[in-house]
Amino acid sequence: MAERIRAFVCGHPVAHSRSPAIHGHWLQRHGIAGSYERIDVVPERISVFIAEMAAQGFAGGNFTIPHKEAAFAGVDRRDAAAEMIGAVNTVWLEEGRLVGANTDAPGFAANLDDHAPEWRQGRKAVVLGAGGAARAVLFALLDAGFTDVRVVNRSVARARELADRFGPRVSAHGQAAAGELLGDADLVVNTTSLGMDGNGELPADVTSIHGGAIVTDIVYVPLVTPLLAAATARGLKTVDGLGMLLHQAAPGFRRWFGIMPEVTPELRDLVIADMERHS
Ligand code: NDP
Repeated sequence: MAERIRAFVCGHPVAHSRSPAIHGHWLQRHGIAGSYERIDVVPERISVFIAEMAAQGFAGGNFTIPHKEAAFAGVDRRDAAAEMIGAVNTVWLEEGRLVGANTDAPGFAANLDDHAPEWRQGRKAVVLGAGGAARAVLFALLDAGFTDVRVVNRSVARARELADRFGPRVSAHGQAAAGELLGDADLVVNTTSLGMDGNGELPADVTSIHGGAIVTDIVYVPLVTPLLAAATARGLKTVDGLGMLLHQAAPGFRRWFGIMPEVTPELRDLVIADMERHS
């Protein structure tokens, strides 16, 4: 009998992760007798977990908060996105060596490709927030050819760190500058946690955004964030953040199970139902 391939999502906590629903759907759809397990590892044990992963019989897996930096440090080799972002969320084995990637960046791009493919013609963007997820967004924007990316953050020092890291196409700003910066942006991306469940605050004033801009939020709980609701009410094109979550999962599945899975409306509905069951 063929060996059963095992993969995982590892975090602390990890109960909230929707990744098992995504990979479980793809395993079933492709008739693969593999598994995708949820594993909670405390930070003190994470380097041991990474070192022993292959011996434990895993083909690879995903790392989520707070382990993406430890995964970065623990792999033998990394893709270009992971190197630039400084975090690894997907690992697999190649000839006994552990390889790490950051699939949040291509996940972000693939979601926009699905729902607003014209985003690639844009050159000016405003990125609201300067946390871990903002790094993945910056990588994707620069990779897509954006030449003027303005990072707006409550703490300007954190935005400046990103501008220093990503180079001259990225600039750093405090929140007071947002209105002016939004006026000619082709794309506006919220990466702040504002707008998450029960938090009705807007990360920016949508009246400053020009009519032809695309507005996207990487927060996906709720699916329609206050920013997206306000942007839609103004007649702007919007893209929600769930597709980023779905797309970031696909490269890992291909590495572990050998098939590039599809992000379909059926998968999206299934994950929405899964989120509603656990909310
Ligand atoms: P971080 O904690 O690293 O960063 C949070 C950001 O939000 C910082 O820029 C922070 O500003 C800002 N922020 C928080 N509270 C406030 C506030 N009250 N006012 C203004 N700014 C605020 O988080 P991540 O970057 O890891 O994640 C951000 C969001 O993105 C989360 O909601 C997460 O769920 C979502 N996400 C979605 C993904 C997807 O697949 N769709 C993938 C990854 C993340 P400051 O620096 O000043 O504190």
